[in-house]
Amino acid sequence: MLVSVALPLPLFRTFTYEVDDAQAERARPGMRAVVPFRNRRELGVIVASGEPAPGVTPKPVIALPDDEPVLGADMLALCHWMAEYYVVPLGIAIRSVLPAALSSQSAPQPVRRTRRVASIVREIPSLLQRDEVFARTKQQRALYELLESLGGRAAVEHLTEQLRFSPSVLQSLVKRGMVAVEEEVVARDPFGWRAAPKSAVHVPSPAQRSALDALFAAKGGDVFLLHGVTGSGKTLVYIELLREVVLNRGRTAIVLVPEIALTPQTVDRFRAVFGDQIAVLHSALSDGERYDEWLALRDGKKRIAVGARSAIFAPLRDLGAIVVDEEHESSYKQGEAPRYHAREVAIIRAKREGAVVVLGSATPSLESWVNADAGRYARLTLPARVGEGRLPAVDVVDLREAAREAANKRQEPTDWLRLVISEPLERALSDRLKKGEQSILLLNRRGYAAFVQCGVCGDVASCPNCSISLTYHRAPERLVCHYCQHAEPPRTQCPRCKGLLLKQRGWGTQQVERLLADRFATARIARMDVDTTSGKWAHAEILDRVAAGEVDILLGTQMIAKGLDFPNVTLVGVVDADVGINLPDFRASERCFQLLSQVAGRAGRGPKGGRVFIQTRVPAHHAVRCAVEHDYTKFVSQELAGRNTPTYPPNVRIANVVFSGTTEAATASLASSATTWLHALLRKRPVPGFTVIGPAPCAVDRIKNRWRWHVLLKAEHPRDLSRLGRYFLERFRVPNEAQLRVTFDRDPVALL
Ligand SMILES: [Zn+2]
Ligand SMILES: [Zn+2]
Repeated sequence: MLVSVALPLPLFRTFTYEVDDAQAERARPGMRAVVPFRNRRELGVIVASGEPAPGVTPKPVIALPDDEPVLGADMLALCHWMAEYYVVPLGIAIRSVLPAALSSQSAPQPVRRTRRVASIVREIPSLLQRDEVFARTKQQRALYELLESLGGRAAVEHLTEQLRFSPSVLQSLVKRGMVAVEEEVVARDPFGWRAAPKSAVHVPSPAQRSALDALFAAKGGDVFLLHGVTGSGKTLVYIELLREVVLNRGRTAIVLVPEIALTPQTVDRFRAVFGDQIAVLHSALSDGERYDEWLALRDGKKRIAVGARSAIFAPLRDLGAIVVDEEHESSYKQGEAPRYHAREVAIIRAKREGAVVVLGSATPSLESWVNADAGRYARLTLPARVGEGRLPAVDVVDLREAAREAANKRQEPTDWLRLVISEPLERALSDRLKKGEQSILLLNRRGYAAFVQCGVCGDVASCPNCSISLTYHRAPERLVCHYCQHAEPPRTQCPRCKGLLLKQRGWGTQQVERLLADRFATARIARMDVDTTSGKWAHAEILDRVAAGEVDILLGTQMIAKGLDFPNVTLVGVVDADVGINLPDFRASERCFQLLSQVAGRAGRGPKGGRVFIQTRVPAHHAVRCAVEHDYTKFVSQELAGRNTPTYPPNVRIANVVFSGTTEAATASLASSATTWLHALLRKRPVPGFTVIGPAPCAVDRIKNRWRWHVLLKAEHPRDLSRLGRYFLERFRVPNEAQLRVTFDRDPVALL
């Protein structure tokens, strides 16, 4: 008997093998199979029975390691769809669907059970005292203050390996009695020790009620766009839907959230209602633990999967509902092959398996909005906040005026905080501190200064591996590339002109944190960005401290804008709304509008109300203006009009084809020969509504020592992208030099 096996290799074909009589019974589609391939063993999945080919003697399958298929017929069909739509080999689509423990031939990694943790034991509240204590020990101060910013404790491994502090600096702090180091047991499951929250009874509002009525009456495959302003109670709708689908109708469900560690409150609310019916698939699970959850879901022991992007592949049977919370988030798109979007996969899976899909957001993606306009999705609206919450008033602070005023005074700035935080925002902050209320400050730029520039010749310190400037970090002090993590000591002299005047430009979160601490000496400030973690769970810990009222000011990057609900937060300040607004990317304005609207939505969720200040140099930009007015539909109509000349999604379908290699010449020449190839093909077989744009260097034209060029394919009919993409990737020959590579990104979330 012959079988056709998909292997996780970059080849657009399956391979035929022979199974003996003993194996024949188990050799069904969806079974894993160990097979000989060239001179090695490969682990693949049987996808069909095999056809004999003339003149070829198939090799025998080496082993079938499982008793049951790892993929059911529905999941296998979903893999076929992904392979075709995203133009990847079937074996690579299958690999992304299975838990890592099943897709590697090696055993799952053992779980580490303990770690060493450093924590501050002596607090030094005043800056004067601090200057004295650390007079000659700059490194110790840096480490001490970093620990503070991490909430007073952090894993030693994180400090020494990721942040590169010397262990001797830590030892000195321990000897001086300022810091203690202890062994700590690592929780197997971070949700294991999170107190199970009490399930409060909420009565749906009329708007929530009518959304639920529509969902309960829906038929399998129906897609709903739940557009609800921030604080309008979307989570309650999800929970009541699942109560009906899972508890009353006995089916199963998937809930997707952008990132578990950043949305602990949402996950807790599901746990409160559904308890151990839920498998929470989060990044802190080891491969083995993830596999355990996968089995529990497959065997029906757990009936709800909650997780980020890949939870869409949970092996549930009789799927009744899929919720995609914050459906506009770009984290739903996978960055490597298959470059799938979990929202699109959800819709395809639901159609096949008869589930209802809810896409929820206060700021839906333009794609989903247009689909709702066209009647492909049904729109549900929650127009107002629930309970006593009101949408906050938003004030714009024009930073250009502030700068003009400062220039008129014709004096050197001595008040550094004023350069970052305007007077009205500072007044509002100190008012909240007096009242014991909490504030959130957003600055979407981590590090201390965005870049370092020579004051003589203007040279900017940039990464040796990427075409991107280096960010200046304190604690530990170094220049870091945010693309490839290259780090080097700070410069004392300009390498180009030997000048000694090096200036830091562009405020980062580390610097603003320091300025705030100087101004508001008694305030409890927490910073949250990718540098303030010792493992992904640290973010949830910081959020727990905010919830417990242990933080007065939470300062952070975009990660603080995701679905947090703290009734005592009455002030939100956006330090610099313009970060990212001018990126050379067609979604730059949309992302800016979403971020501003989402972070503004953190204010005023309780009875005390809220206020928002947005600091900007472009107050007339439609992304800023519409966020200020809480006007989503106005933003959409202006933004959609802007995507007509030139056309961009959702007005057209695109794929970004990226060419990369170790030399600039070879990369550029590959991109241009590919373009010529595509044009020749289209001349021979014209495809109406299909255009090839480029080639051009990518906006970031070198990353990790690889040069990058790209070509944009635009199509009126989605099918043409699959067809032409596949034809191109299969037939176009990439020369064997300069490590040249081609990647195909369908429906890209960014073009950088
Ligand atoms: Zn210079
Ligand atoms: Zn770099």
